[in-house]
Amino acid sequence: MRPLRPVEPNLRRAANALLAGELVVLPTETVYGLAADAANPEAVAKIFEAKGRPSDNPLIVHVSHMDAVELWSDHLPKGMLKLARAFWPGPLTVVVPKNPRVPDIVTAGLDTVAIRIPSHSLALAILEMTQMGLAMPSANPFMGLSPTRADRIDESITAHVACIIDGGPCRVGIESTVLDLSDGTPKILRPGTITAEEIEAVIGTVEVSTTDAKKAPGMYRRHYAPKVPAVLAPKALEGDAGLVFGYTTGANQIQMPSDPANYAKKLYVALSDLETRELPRIVIEEPPQTPEWAGVWDRINKATATE
Ligand code: AMP
Ligand code: MG
Repeated sequence: MRPLRPVEPNLRRAANALLAGELVVLPTETVYGLAADAANPEAVAKIFEAKGRPSDNPLIVHVSHMDAVELWSDHLPKGMLKLARAFWPGPLTVVVPKNPRVPDIVTAGLDTVAIRIPSHSLALAILEMTQMGLAMPSANPFMGLSPTRADRIDESITAHVACIIDGGPCRVGIESTVLDLSDGTPKILRPGTITAEEIEAVIGTVEVSTTDAKKAPGMYRRHYAPKVPAVLAPKALEGDAGLVFGYTTGANQIQMPSDPANYAKKLYVALSDLETRELPRIVIEEPPQTPEWAGVWDRINKATATE
């Protein structure tokens, strides 16, 4: 399926498909999303089917403005408005108490819902056109790489969608930071490019969920099963295929940016480039152990996990 140029008639087409209960692939600033009307349980069921996603893995509801957040939650926790002012639209998801309007299938039966306002102008345009909340996980099959370009959407996904809107490469490149505000001290369930320190500067102390086992509903230690096994190493050897800092040796080494934002932006495209080659394994050189790399570390730990 050819991605559509982001012109008005194509955006209309995507909006109409969503209104009819179909799936579409949309660009967001984090990764490409597989979108459905969050208020329509049959439409949301198609997301789980298309991805092969386990039903215990809740979805994030995307909305275009603050008033719409109140359609999905009757109780906005302390700190919510400050966070919205600081980080929305943008790659921060908050988990808040849900109201009865949210179908169980969206939250995997939990009494909380994950919400964010994305910053991509095309995602916002579709949200405005449809006046919907959109349930929208990454547009990859379960355990596959999240696509950050329209030409990297797997055929198993495109077979289920009405259309794909091409918004170019995603600016952020990894999934949003997920922050649980529903119970006691705010807690980061999934790190992203918005760091714990940045959140603490706005609302005070936050906890960071420990990395072991299942961190939260639907958080799997092995989130991505590379088609080529991937391992971490301080330094790749000459002849190793992989993601490296500094000079590359050989055609199967990809030079990665030395700052976390640009690294995150390039990560999934680099891994998907290497996946298409006949390689025994991929070596990922370890980035610095500093807080601004937490989002990248989470994704490369998931890419190299063996179970
Ligand atoms: P993604 O698969 O990138 O769309 O991310 C969705 C992730 O957000 C899920 O895997 C959950 O870990 C998290 N999430 C969504 N809804 C909730 C919720 N109600 N409570 C806790 N975590 C949630
Ligand atoms: Mg995903």
